[in-house]
Amino acid sequence: SNPEVVRVVVGAGEIWDDFVKESVDRSLYGLENLSGVPGTVGASVVQNIECYGAEVKDSVESVEVFDTETFEIEILTNKQCDFIYRHSIFKTEEGKNFIILRVNFVLKKEGKLNLGYKDIKNYLKENNLEEKDIDLKKMREILLFIRKNKLPDLKQFGTAGSFFKCPIVDSEIFMRLKEIFPDMPNYKIDIGCETSLQGEHKIPIAFIIDHKLGWRGYREGEVGTFDKHALIVVNHGNATAKDVKNLAEKIVKDVKEKTGINIETEVVMW
Ligand SMILES: Cc1cc2nc3c(=O)[nH]c(=O)nc-3n(C[C@H](O)[C@H](O)[C@H](O)COP(=O)(O)OP(=O)(O)OC[C@H]3O[C@@H](n4cnc5c(N)ncnc54)[C@H](O)[C@@H]3O)c2cc1C
Repeated sequence: SNPEVVRVVVGAGEIWDDFVKESVDRSLYGLENLSGVPGTVGASVVQNIECYGAEVKDSVESVEVFDTETFEIEILTNKQCDFIYRHSIFKTEEGKNFIILRVNFVLKKEGKLNLGYKDIKNYLKENNLEEKDIDLKKMREILLFIRKNKLPDLKQFGTAGSFFKCPIVDSEIFMRLKEIFPDMPNYKIDIGCETSLQGEHKIPIAFIIDHKLGWRGYREGEVGTFDKHALIVVNHGNATAKDVKNLAEKIVKDVKEKTGINIETEVVMW
C-alpha cells in the first residue's frame, strides 16, 4: 500500500458533490476542481466529468459493475473504462449492459492545486489573492463561487448543463479555424488536460458559439441559450424535448456552415 494515497470506495448512488466536499474536508486532493458538478458518483464516470482543468478519470482506480447480460459483478480497471474527454465505455454499445455499483477512487494526501484555468486566475487577480493563499477548502469555495455566477440555477431553469462537446481536431483544422477566428484561444493549453487529447487541439466551442456566432442569450419561445453561457440550453418553462432538440440542431448547423466543423451534443438523445 502507498502511504501517499487514500483509497475510497463510493456507492454509485451517492451525490457527487457530497463526496467532493467530504474529501476536501478530509484534506484529500484530486477532486477539488470538480466541485459543484451536479449528479451522482455513478454518473460521474459515465460522463468522465470534466471541468476547470480536472477530469474524474484521473482519480478513478476502477469501477465495479453489474453486467445485465451475464448477471456477473465485474471490476473494470481505469484503462478498461476507455475514458476520454467527457466520454467512457459506459456511453457506448459495449458498455450498455453495465450498471455501475461502486467507484474505487484514489485520492492524494499531498497535492498541488491546479489554478491554471482562466476563470480561477481572474478570480485570484480580482481578489488580490496569490497561489500561496489558496488551500483545498478555499479552492472549492472559489470554484463554487465561479460556477454559481456562470451556470444556471437549477431551481430556476430546466437544463442539462453544457449541451455541446468541444470538438477535438488535428492541427490542420485548428490552423484553419485560427485563420477564421485569429483571437481563438488554444484551449488545450488553457485547460491543461493533455492526457486525454494526445497532442490534438480541443476547440473552445463556447468561444465560437458565443463570441463569434452570437448565440448567447438567444431565445425562441420557451427554449433558449443561457445568457451567461451559450453552450447551455435552458428551458424557460414549458419547452418540450422537441423544442430543445430543434434549437440544438440549429446551433449545430450554424457552426457547420460558418466553420466547416461538426460538433456533437454532450447530451445523449434517443
Ligand atoms: C448546471 C449543470 C452544470 C454541469 N456542469 C458540468 C461540468 O462542469 N462538467 C461535466 O462534465 N458535466 C457537467 N454537467 C453534466 C452532469 O452534471 C453530469 O453529466 C453528471 O454526471 C450527470 O449526473 P446525473 O446523476 O444527473 O446523471 P443522469 O443524467 O441521471 O445520467 C447520465 C447517464 O449516466 C447513466 N447512469 C447514471 N448512473 C448510472 C449507473 N449507476 N450505472 C450505469 N449508468 C448510469 C444514465 O443512464 C445516463 O445515461 C452539468 C450539468 C448541469 C445541469
